[in-house]
Amino acid sequence: MATLSISSVILHCDGCNKPLNDGETFRSSTEARAAAYAAGWRFPPMATKTGKLSAQGSDACPECLPNWKTLPLASRHSYQRLDGSVR
Ligand SMILES: [Zn+2]
Repeated sequence: MATLSISSVILHCDGCNKPLNDGETFRSSTEARAAAYAAGWRFPPMATKTGKLSAQGSDACPECLPNWKTLPLASRHSYQRLDGSVR
């Protein structure tokens, strides 16, 4: 197997849309979140249509955390894919 992925992700705050570390790229959302956690970001759960809390988390930067409001799942936009592969 020689699968080479050159895609990368930038983590954005779901509150203010600020990118983590001025747009630092990561190879996966897991890596991005690990770095974000170290930088003081937290991942409060999102709400489903029925008002329950989802397993999916928002991405909240330290500035937004004190006033964080639970977001609906549909508003998710955190992961901007920078995908260099050909379709
Ligand atoms: Zn924010």
